[in-house]
Amino acid sequence: MIAAPAMKRIARFALHRLGGLRPLIWSSRKRFRILTYHRFSLPDLPGAVETLDRQCAFLRRHFQPVPLAEIARSLNTGAPLPPGAVAVTVDDGYRDFLQDAFPVFEKWRIPATVFLVTDFVDRKMWPWWSQVEYAAHHGRARRVRLSLPPDRPEWDLPLESREQRQRAEALIREQLVKIPGRERLAFVDSLADLFDLEIPHEAPPEHAALTWDDVRQLAAAGVEFGAHTKTHPILPLEDEASIEEEIAGSKARIEEELGRQALHFCYPNGDYNDAAVAAVARCGFQTAVTIHAGLNAPRANRYLLKRLSIDLDSTGEYFREHVAGMHV
Ligand SMILES: [Zn+2]
Repeated sequence: MIAAPAMKRIARFALHRLGGLRPLIWSSRKRFRILTYHRFSLPDLPGAVETLDRQCAFLRRHFQPVPLAEIARSLNTGAPLPPGAVAVTVDDGYRDFLQDAFPVFEKWRIPATVFLVTDFVDRKMWPWWSQVEYAAHHGRARRVRLSLPPDRPEWDLPLESREQRQRAEALIREQLVKIPGRERLAFVDSLADLFDLEIPHEAPPEHAALTWDDVRQLAAAGVEFGAHTKTHPILPLEDEASIEEEIAGSKARIEEELGRQALHFCYPNGDYNDAAVAAVARCGFQTAVTIHAGLNAPRANRYLLKRLSIDLDSTGEYFREHVAGMHV
């Protein structure tokens, strides 16, 4: 008798080696996919470029990569997309897109849309999760005591090894998305004291944003740029005027620098409410993407498009299953 885990492995092997994903891809060919990438180069992501290269080869072989603009056109006119249409999106606007990812996407002729946090590109701020990463890995403190949310009992986190620092970073990031924006920013302001280091005003090179010159150069090479707010607050915000300012402000800034319209929007952290969706529509965006996991029907709601989040540290098997639609 074969044990259950072994059976599972054999079934998985058969699924991948014998083309078992093909029927699933074929049966979902009329629905379109939008993939989400974030970072391409971090110390915790060794081999990311090679992984991306293999992922792109798979996309080219089994799907039809299209620009997000083509999806917008199809939603506008009802004209069908090619079967197996897939669009690639990249959130936030880190510079590793230019250095590491773009050459790979270009090699495989896979169009990409990059969603910019415009105050990040303007060097006015850098994202709080990158600041947490920076503090957790570079701080001189050997342990940190903190309460998150602030009224919760204290965590006591040792920082002796790389693993412990990674654990502290993950825990802090996980807690920070759950608390209101003002408290989150107040906590981020306390990182320097907690971890005993200086947090530079401008992002260090490993967390740098694209520059506007990079953006223009990439746009000339066919990359599309969408808006991702000015400062990446988690929408909904308390007042509607701030929502409008964040959304419209980032759109205007991209258009000013690029001299062309920004037609696609990405909700920070995937969170939205009615006011945010209404503001996106009023600003004249053609599409908006969430982080709801799934494939999209041909007549999907253009302002609530689903995406598949892609990790560069997952296995090739998981990636292929995920893109096929097995895990949604
Ligand atoms: Zn983001």
